[in-house]
Amino acid sequence: MRDVIVVGAGGGGPVVAAELAARGLDVLLLEAGPRHAKPREEWTHFENDANNPLTGFLRFGPQDRDKPAWFREWSQNSFLWQLSGVGGTTQHYYGNSPRAYPGVFNDYDKPDAYNYDVAHWFPFGYSELVPYYEWVEATLPVQTAAMGTKEEVYFRGCETLGIPVQTRKTTTGNSFRPQENAILQPGGTAGRTTRTELLQYPKAIGCTLCGYCFQGCMQPPRAPRNQFAKRSTDNSYVPMALTADTWKRGGRPATLLADSFVTQVHTEERGGELVATGVTWRTGETGETHREDAKVVVLSAGCTETPRLWFNSGLPNPNGWVGRGYTDHFFDWVFGVFDHETGNSKGPGSSARTEYPGYGGLENVGLPPAIEAFAMTVSDSGIRGQYANCRGMTGPWDGPAGRLVGPELKEVLSGGIDRLLNVLVITDDDVEAQNRVVPSAFPADEHGPVAKVQFRQRQRSRRTLRNREFMARRAAELLRGAGAKKVYRIDWAPVILHVQSTMRMGERDNETVLTPEAESRWVKRLYVADNSALANSLGGPNPTLTTQALATRTAEKLYQRYFGGDPWVRTESPTPSTDPRISVRLAQLGL
Ligand SMILES: Cc1cc2nc3c(=O)[nH]c(=O)nc-3n(C[C@H](O)[C@H](O)[C@H](O)COP(=O)(O)OP(=O)(O)OC[C@H]3O[C@@H](n4cnc5c(N)ncnc54)[C@H](O)[C@@H]3O)c2cc1C
Repeated sequence: MRDVIVVGAGGGGPVVAAELAARGLDVLLLEAGPRHAKPREEWTHFENDANNPLTGFLRFGPQDRDKPAWFREWSQNSFLWQLSGVGGTTQHYYGNSPRAYPGVFNDYDKPDAYNYDVAHWFPFGYSELVPYYEWVEATLPVQTAAMGTKEEVYFRGCETLGIPVQTRKTTTGNSFRPQENAILQPGGTAGRTTRTELLQYPKAIGCTLCGYCFQGCMQPPRAPRNQFAKRSTDNSYVPMALTADTWKRGGRPATLLADSFVTQVHTEERGGELVATGVTWRTGETGETHREDAKVVVLSAGCTETPRLWFNSGLPNPNGWVGRGYTDHFFDWVFGVFDHETGNSKGPGSSARTEYPGYGGLENVGLPPAIEAFAMTVSDSGIRGQYANCRGMTGPWDGPAGRLVGPELKEVLSGGIDRLLNVLVITDDDVEAQNRVVPSAFPADEHGPVAKVQFRQRQRSRRTLRNREFMARRAAELLRGAGAKKVYRIDWAPVILHVQSTMRMGERDNETVLTPEAESRWVKRLYVADNSALANSLGGPNPTLTTQALATRTAEKLYQRYFGGDPWVRTESPTPSTDPRISVRLAQLGL
């Protein structure tokens, strides 16, 4: 019997695995997708090879790329962007690591509290989470982003919005700032040359400004895995989990099994309570199933698959909130066309942001060409000007919202993508019961009934709609202020990649699945440590840092409750995931 089984090696799971392995527990980390152990041999910078959701090496699908991707039903025009594989969706992520706004926690007592989703506060205070934020920020580590031309243009626009620059970790007012991100700052030759022979570790360290954050970071060449620039968990917490005996006295390496899709969580009655006892998983390559027991099970399969696994395991759902409350920051996309170079496709993907607590935020997002084309196309208004929906959506952008086609599109792209500047609109959206994951009526796959993700797109709350319009207007003003000749609003269909709260914790028993310690209300010894545990959409800040801070807290809580351990976050110092002892052990392990 294991001490702990963690299901899913994405943003949250490896944090629990590494922290508990460091405390000497016997941890099994099960990941449904592939393990890219040698990215520089397996990956390319070709966009279709990497990002194609059906066949790319970064997709939600099995290890064998000849097999189809795994299906999920979306009942509306939308795109669900969650990956399988060790690192999960952080393989794609941009590493942006802002903290949640204090207004989404239950110790917020400022007069503007009504501006937030107060009905769905976190069941504890911001001050409670700060030590965990600090722990993760030191572990990943989180640093101020490297910047270049696109950030200069973006900040020029911010300066015209009448808001100040700020550089604190905690954001309390309207402001703009360099991102705090989980990408190692460039050092040595990195960022100073494009000569590949000079851009090799250890001459180059950290981000080489290659512009391909999106496609799984493998920079700089020759660096040990735990020194890769972007701190996706395959480069940070997973190496820590696998080498826990080297960097922590009493640590014990975790066992990682990829290609291992968990299909069942097992339970038994003990003393009148339902208790989790273990899991069954299916190995993709052979089709064999395996069962192991554990004292504690932690679900970290993400906002869509954690509820699916819950439903497929027949676990209790007495208040009907399993899978409900799906928040997605109801994004939008606004971009400007410039008559000079903006550096749109260069450098770390997203290094500048703007904050409007109570409404949401904006961030600059640089993209390579194919994803730029995707971003300009995925509209809920269709071809701009053609449908009633988009004709109503007018504002400080040019013409109605919607996607561009024909001569207009050609004209926009005639200067190339490095004359564009993109702004992602991140809405502070409400937890709403009707936005949810349910079992699909489509045929089951080899892992059981598949998930259906359902957003009632046109029934979003008034506050959510107000916030999105407010932020889209600020985005357009920012771009005009930066000197854009034309500004376009796409009115994105849900691009579901900042995902939160489908297994939420919170203050009210009748709308939550988890206790404030992230343990299931109805199954003891069963925890959730991924974005689905978040109480709400954080006010708009990108979710992964908060998930990782919460996962650290969850690991500490379950260690105390079920293993008699002492808490550590307030008494010890964190070890950075770049620690050279980890590099040495990875080399010994051939990783
Ligand atoms: C393009 C893009 C950019 C992003 N940029 C940022 C950013 O800059 N900052 C930020 O904070 N966030 C960003 N995000 C979001 C970020 O990736 C997620 O917040 C984070 O990955 C969520 O972590 P998670 O553990 O909830 O889920 P995931 O990372 O999706 O991990 C879940 C894992 O569980 C595995 N799994 C699923 N089901 C099972 C099962 N039954 N058995 C075993 N394993 C299973 C999956 O294969 C997956 O590996 C971005 C996302 C995208 C797509």
